[in-house]
Amino acid sequence: MYKSIVIGTGPAGLTAAIYLARANLNPLVIEGVQPGGQLTTTTEVENFPGFPQGIQGPELMDNMRKQAERFGAEFRSGWVEQVDFSVRPFKVKVEGGDELESETVILSTGASARYLSIPGEQENVGRGVSTCATCDGFFFRGKKIIVVGGGDSAMEEASFLTRFASTVTLVHRRDELRASKIMQDRARSNEKVQWALNRTPLAVVTDENSTVKGLKVRNNATNQEELVEADGVFVAIGHTPNTKFLGDAIHTDDHGYIIVKPGTTETNIPGVFACGDVQDTRYRQAITAAGSGCMAAMDCEKYLEGSMVHDWSETLNP
Ligand code: NAP
Repeated sequence: MYKSIVIGTGPAGLTAAIYLARANLNPLVIEGVQPGGQLTTTTEVENFPGFPQGIQGPELMDNMRKQAERFGAEFRSGWVEQVDFSVRPFKVKVEGGDELESETVILSTGASARYLSIPGEQENVGRGVSTCATCDGFFFRGKKIIVVGGGDSAMEEASFLTRFASTVTLVHRRDELRASKIMQDRARSNEKVQWALNRTPLAVVTDENSTVKGLKVRNNATNQEELVEADGVFVAIGHTPNTKFLGDAIHTDDHGYIIVKPGTTETNIPGVFACGDVQDTRYRQAITAAGSGCMAAMDCEKYLEGSMVHDWSETLNP
């Protein structure tokens, strides 16, 4: 039986693992299908403190993993298909493998950006197609950018990207935006933002050098195909938290994000903690994920010491 199992190996899970291992709690870390998480799909990370020249996303994650291993964290590849938090110790079932037991569990399975699933999209991720304005906006200084989506994320990313871009064209499949009025107003009052509403994205278009040239869309009013020209396409159509495997073992919000007691990583189950994007609908940064991973490990230590008072009553239950 383990003292602590960490599920997920993005910055949140690996930071939790470093702290737990340094506290001599010998955590087991289960890697999931995408070891290293979302950062392994990016190229250069320029905003993680401590790397003045930037660092490649996969290298940063590899460093974190080595750091956790150095202090005795045990790693295991695999995909958790089921958990049972109704019994003590908790049970964690790894696909095609055994059922593991642990006194505590840290959930750090992240969230996945949703993609459009159109031709030209996946092959250009990191080469003109992005799902993270904060990460990649800087690479499009003075260029034309498209943001796809009609929600708050799309408005926020469009406004943010005007810092770098010559123009930002917002492409949305309907005439009406889903975003809150304040976010819409902010984007609408920005003269660099142009609007291509009622247009359904059909394909990311590249030239003969595989450089992104724009987005082919269908104008739903005329039923004609059009090309919206741009050097970069930012897809901002939401994220999906990776919580399916939890079933109803834990409280989540309507979108599937794990609910934690504000200012902590405590879930509604004493001994189960959540950190990183799986519980974060707001910041979603590597550094905030790492910070919350540290919090989860410290909460976990406190719980194992028996000095944690679990008071869920203050927290909103769904
Ligand atoms: P969202 O509200 O679910 O909006 C997703 C948008 O993407 C919708 O406009 C949707 O179009 C469009 N979309 C979805 N699938 C598509 C597809 N296959 N093709 C084309 N378009 C597609 O997601 P979000 O904007 O990421 O926001 C998620 C939550 O976080 C919301 O509760 C939001 O308020 C919150 N948030 C808040 C802030 C803030 O307050 N600062 C910032 C960001 C996010 P339809 O409208 O046609 O369905």
